[in-house]
Amino acid sequence: MRLDDFRPSSNVEDRRGGGFQIPGGGGGLGIGTIIIVGLVGWALGINPVTLLSGLEAIQGSGSQQSAPAGKMGAPDDQLGQFAAKVLASTEQVWTDIFRGQGKTYQDPKMVLFTGQVRSACGDASAAVGPFYCPTDQKVYLDLSFFNDLATRFKAPGDFASAYVIAHEVGHHVQNLTGILPKLQQAQRQAATKREANGISVRSELMADCLAGVWAYHANERYRILEPGDIEEGMKAAAAVGDDRLQRQAQGTVVPDSFTHGSSQQRVNWFMRGLKTGAMQQCNTLQGAI
Ligand SMILES: [Zn+2]
Repeated sequence: MRLDDFRPSSNVEDRRGGGFQIPGGGGGLGIGTIIIVGLVGWALGINPVTLLSGLEAIQGSGSQQSAPAGKMGAPDDQLGQFAAKVLASTEQVWTDIFRGQGKTYQDPKMVLFTGQVRSACGDASAAVGPFYCPTDQKVYLDLSFFNDLATRFKAPGDFASAYVIAHEVGHHVQNLTGILPKLQQAQRQAATKREANGISVRSELMADCLAGVWAYHANERYRILEPGDIEEGMKAAAAVGDDRLQRQAQGTVVPDSFTHGSSQQRVNWFMRGLKTGAMQQCNTLQGAI
């Protein structure tokens, strides 16, 4: 992957090495709860948005303490700079696409953290994987996830990591276009768990497709793709499919409990965005997926 054309984005809030600990009980979400979220929703994207807000509703905990402010601006270290450059590429691409539609793109912030983090959507541990919080419009990322992706998920490579960031930014795009709030409302109103899961899958596959749209335009304009990159992206999308994760975790696959889609679905939708570069191609809400 070639990111030479990008300066690291300054929309980065670096909270790595901060002293924040998730409180053990009382007001916010306890660490025990977060661990359960991580096990249920392990993967990138994980939809902690829904999981966390759902749990919060159950717990009746609406109060949010403000998070400690991190260091703003582009990070100095190599991995932090990589993430900030990928973020910069999403800013360029989505700014152009929105402008083409007569709209204005608002850059999300990216919070880098280690271990655990406080967001406007609740406290979270790195175990839930990278996530997007629509309330504060921030992407939360523990960079050690890229290690997990390479070793545990067997999806190494810089483009695999970039896909993760682009997927989360895809949720931000859903948020700006007003789709995400509607999907979240539909999920809350779903009659059954199965129905709610189905809505989650469609939302996640849309974010995968939007990540593909980013890759298409970033390559058209800035030639980011190098040989092997697309395969890396496909591997990453497949690695975080619900069927594969469930088989690894419990040995069996329960499609009704999918929240992100199967490996095949995730690859298909990512590739659909990557081949066409068209947001309209990412409508996962109609027909079969
Ligand atoms: Zn997601």
